Amino acid sequence: MNDPVTIDAIGFQNAWAQAINKLHDNDWALWDLVVRIKNPSYMDKNIHDVVESFAIANNRVPPNKVAYTIFPYKLACDNRSFLRICDGYLTKFYPMTRRMQKSGWGTYFHRMICYPTVKDGCIVYVNQLNKILEAKKNSKSVMKTAYTMVLCRPGGENVKPLGTPCLNTVAVRQEPLNGRRSVIGNVSLRECWIDSPYLSAVRGILDTEPVGNCRTCKRIGTCNTGCLAQKYLAYGKLERCPDPACIMN
Ligand code: SF4
Repeated sequence: MNDPVTIDAIGFQNAWAQAINKLHDNDWALWDLVVRIKNPSYMDKNIHDVVESFAIANNRVPPNKVAYTIFPYKLACDNRSFLRICDGYLTKFYPMTRRMQKSGWGTYFHRMICYPTVKDGCIVYVNQLNKILEAKKNSKSVMKTAYTMVLCRPGGENVKPLGTPCLNTVAVRQEPLNGRRSVIGNVSLRECWIDSPYLSAVRGILDTEPVGNCRTCKRIGTCNTGCLAQKYLAYGKLERCPDPACIMN
């Protein structure tokens, strides 16, 4: 058994690549590998495309399909409420997984929102994730360890070699990033607007001189070099360049 191994990465793709390398260097067996991802929502599209092409070419499941087995991404794409996501999952998606050849795939979310337990001698189904969201909404405290979801079912799954869910439990931990600012209910929108390092950086960029064709463009007064979010998506950084979709360029 090896000593605990840690990986500290900016995004999940880099974390995954580091983990693969560590596994490779340890003869494909690692005990107690702890991975910390600083920004789980950061994704580099170029890396994704390379890994997806590799997986498809080698008859493997692409990474996004594996991720969807944990959370029903498409159900959340049209901004529906959490309870409507649950309803769509339970009435449409989950019954569909029952007819699939690999019928255990895509069912982690089912255990998060419909976990069977016994109360007063009757089986009841608990929406664990909703309980956490509601508790978080109603709490002004930062809960570092209070919220957990159980995914493994006591019984056969306790002793099933290679058959237990690889996701056994989920701990939802709040990090006290900026003291009181880590609880949204404590801070006014005005404070967020003025104090946010991100929004300050955006204002700083918008105060600099335009570059390239924007310098002489007659639309600069209305366009102001376009959408920063589109630029970030196209170039991976915030900068004062022309909008990637500009029709004047
Ligand atoms: S992004 Fe295009 S339209 Fe906007 S100011 Fe620059 S050149 Fe003009």
